[in-house]
Amino acid sequence: MHPFTYTRVSDTREALNAGRGGGRYIAGGTTLVDLMRETVEQPETLVDISGLPLREITVAEHGALRIGALVRMAEAAAHPKVRVLYPVISEALELSASAQLRNMATIGGNIMQRTRCTYFRDVTADCNKREPGSGCAALHGFNRSHAILGTSDHCVSTHPSDVAVAFAALEARVHLLGPDGERQVPFADFLLRPGSTPDREQALRRGELITAVEIPALPRPLKSGYLKVRDRQSYEFALTSAAVALHVRGGVIREARIAAGGVGTVPWKLPEVEQQLIGERPSESLWASAAAKAADGARALQHNRFKVELLKRTVERQLRIVGGTK
Ligand SMILES: Cc1cc2nc3c(=O)[nH]c(=O)nc-3n(C[C@H](O)[C@H](O)[C@H](O)COP(=O)(O)OP(=O)(O)OC[C@H]3O[C@@H](n4cnc5c(N)ncnc54)[C@H](O)[C@@H]3O)c2cc1C
Repeated sequence: MHPFTYTRVSDTREALNAGRGGGRYIAGGTTLVDLMRETVEQPETLVDISGLPLREITVAEHGALRIGALVRMAEAAAHPKVRVLYPVISEALELSASAQLRNMATIGGNIMQRTRCTYFRDVTADCNKREPGSGCAALHGFNRSHAILGTSDHCVSTHPSDVAVAFAALEARVHLLGPDGERQVPFADFLLRPGSTPDREQALRRGELITAVEIPALPRPLKSGYLKVRDRQSYEFALTSAAVALHVRGGVIREARIAAGGVGTVPWKLPEVEQQLIGERPSESLWASAAAKAADGARALQHNRFKVELLKRTVERQLRIVGGTK
């Protein structure tokens, strides 16, 4: 492991000073330490933010849910308000990683986690994300787990987070604090598609700290849930996944929030599927016709063609689970 210095901060001002000076934040450490051991990441200074007061979950009067960046995955999953208001968030978290990891890992760290692409993690392989300009070994390598949506000739890796798929579906906002003050970024703009600069992964400015993720109030009743399809039933990343939230009133779907995971270079919002549903009555044929749009624009690679059909079936199944049929 590359030598580094370690400093623990107790307030946000101290954290921002250290961050502005090039320090790298560490929260639960469950993924950054791995990457440092593998020498994929070599920060000079680690700034331990785990003692900052960013560990609250609150529901505002108008109904928005705010999850502090340092809330542990397990805490968020078990929180009564999260379970009642947004089962899709609880389920996405509970289907992530392992119990031990969820007890350490934070919400901020989760959405910041880097791809599990084996070529990214193998420092002897070509990877534009790790080493810009070196090429992408996955393009013509073993790319079974890779993305079919949002890819470029420079990168085809997926974003591995489950809860980020729920946040994308629910149109969350990321709250940031930086040397120039506070700002909010829509989740859709927070994680960046690779384009020609796959090494730029988030819309974070130097030294900026994630303070919270906020889910805007949505009309009630809202039914929601998360389905994850993977090679084994636990401790595995998604091949495909679907986060679905539906507001049905008077037998008609009034609002739909849908995103897919395991298939995109970022969590993949599905506006065409949502549009197909709004104003319609739940039915088997509606789920099938809407889900048929889920893979529009997909660009499959040699080993991941199966994801095109699997994605449509995942979305259809989750629409049926959440929306039922009449
Ligand atoms: C074996 C294994 C299996 C896993 N399986 C899954 C899975 O199935 N689904 C899933 O979603 N995840 C999975 N994960 C990933 C896991 O969820 C992440 O490791 C975890 O969420 C990261 O959180 P952390 O607090 O430990 O982050 P850290 O390791 O502390 O940090 C990760 C990154 O986030 C940055 N960061 C952290 N907090 C902030 C902040 N507040 N502001 C700005 N930057 C910040 C750090 O600088 C670093 O770059 C798995 C991990 C492992 C090791």
